Formats: sequence, structure tokens, C-alpha cells
Amino acid sequence: MKTYLNCFIASILMVIIISSGNVLAYTPKAEKVTGNVYVFIGPLGQRSEVNDGLNNNLGFIVTKQGVILIDSGASRLGAERLEKAIAEVTDKSVKWVINTGSQDHRWLGNDYFASKGADIIAMEKTSKTQQKYAQDQTARMSGFLKQRFEGTQAKPASRLLNEKTNKITLGGQSLELHYTNAHYPGDTWVWLPEQSVVFTGDLVYVDRIFTVLPWSSVVNGQKAFHELIILNPKFIVPGHGGISDIKKAKRDCGDYYDFLAEKIGTAAQEMEAIQDVMEQYNYLPQFKHLEHYETIHRTNMNRTYLEFEQL
Ligand SMILES: [Zn+2]
Repeated sequence: MKTYLNCFIASILMVIIISSGNVLAYTPKAEKVTGNVYVFIGPLGQRSEVNDGLNNNLGFIVTKQGVILIDSGASRLGAERLEKAIAEVTDKSVKWVINTGSQDHRWLGNDYFASKGADIIAMEKTSKTQQKYAQDQTARMSGFLKQRFEGTQAKPASRLLNEKTNKITLGGQSLELHYTNAHYPGDTWVWLPEQSVVFTGDLVYVDRIFTVLPWSSVVNGQKAFHELIILNPKFIVPGHGGISDIKKAKRDCGDYYDFLAEKIGTAAQEMEAIQDVMEQYNYLPQFKHLEHYETIHRTNMNRTYLEFEQL
């Protein structure tokens, strides 16, 4: 009873705090990756009004000609908070926003930075997917963020790149965008060859299990992950979870792509009964340390099976 009462009081307090706009459970704070490269490590839980939907990793690079922001957050308010957090590191303004993907918290802050004069850059297919999902994502995110979503406009990237790999430069900083097409169609990574840093977007998750969405591709994810290893990055900034090296990214993510493709994919192509396959691989001790394993692993197997069944 006492606990219930405490919970009740706590939630009332939380509502008061949120509506007065003061204290939130998550405040973006820049962490240095190396040199002029920074990251905001988002919390691992769900989008909500106390984290402004910033439950993913976002990054930025300070160049001589201004800041390059990697992904723009989930709302107008969230974008404003990112801008403030960047201002704690540099007085330069955001000149470029690069979207690594089309999931809500990668691009719904675009409109805010565009209104401040930033170019919004992405691969062509990324922007197409943003247009496709804009309406659904806006509705869903406004459900999560409630009044904190107000004023947000979905603005797909408008400066578009067309090659499979694109090299662009600002203020002496070179970047390479490369399609991964894993979590959402048109997803990319951003590679900084001079610093040996890769922002993987939602290709890589560490500390928590990645989600195979109905439109995700495990085939593409496994392939892209192996391509990523060939870059031999010193710093891997995953879409979710802490900054990693190859070993950790492989253990928490690459090995799981391999498992899904090799075990579930093969079983699907050999037309083994889906129920038997799910039972056989339900318990995998090597991945159970990953957050959300218990709730997501079976769905991931199921969706992987469906993808491989259709190959
Ligand atoms: Zn994500």
C-alpha cells in the first residue's frame, strides 16, 4: 500500500514537473568520442515525455565552418535541447544535419535546424522512407510525447546524395555515407576516415538487443555489419548503447545478425516448422545479457523467418 501511495505521489509530481517544463529524466549531454567528434548517448528505454524521444544516440562534429549534427532528434523541443547541449561545447552553429535513417528520432528535429539555416542532408532512399512514414511516425510520437511534441513538423531531408557511398566535406572534415538498408530501407552509416569513427545509425545496437521491424532486413544487416568490420573502425558509435570497439559490437550485435541469418534463415529456407525453430533457439545464453532480450528475441526470430522464407 505504501509503495502504491509513493508511486502515486511520484507520478503526480512527475506530471507537475513535466507541465511546468522544468525537470526531465534525460538531459542530453555531449560526450567526447575523440578530437572534434561528440556523441549524445540516449537512454535505453522507450520514447516518452521525460526523455523527449531522445532514446537513441546522436552525434556532432565541430568543424572550422560550423557544426555537423548526425541525426536531429524526435521533436522540435528535443532539437532545441540538442542545440543547447551543443552550445556547451562550441559557439559555432549547426550548419549541416545528416540523417542516418528514417526512424522518428533520427529526423523529426530536422525542421527546427532547417529554420535556423542548416542544410538537411541524407541519401535519396533515406528521404523517400522518411516521406513514406512521416504521417505514422508523427501520430505515434505525439502519443508518446503529448504536449511536448507540439510545433514539430516532419521535414524529410532535402539535400540528397545518390551513390551507394558518398563522400562529402565541410570545414576540412570528410565524411562518407554508405547504405546499410537494415533497420529501415535507406538507412546509412556515417564514416569519418580521419578519426576512425563510424556512426552506425540503427545498424548496430549494443547493451540492448536490436529490433527486427516488419520492414527491416536481416539479410542486409548481416551484410552491412561485415562491411563495417572491414573499415576497421577504432570507435563505433552505435544507434543505441555505449561507444564500442569491434569486439563489443560483434558480441552484442554482429553475432546476433549471424545467428538470425545462419540458424533462423537456413531453417526457413529448408522449410522447417517455424514453431519448432522458435522453441529450439528460444534460450540463447550468449545474448541474454542484452536489455529487452526477453521481450524481443522471439519476435526477431519470427520476422527473420518470414524474410528468409520469401528469398
Ligand atoms: Zn532507433
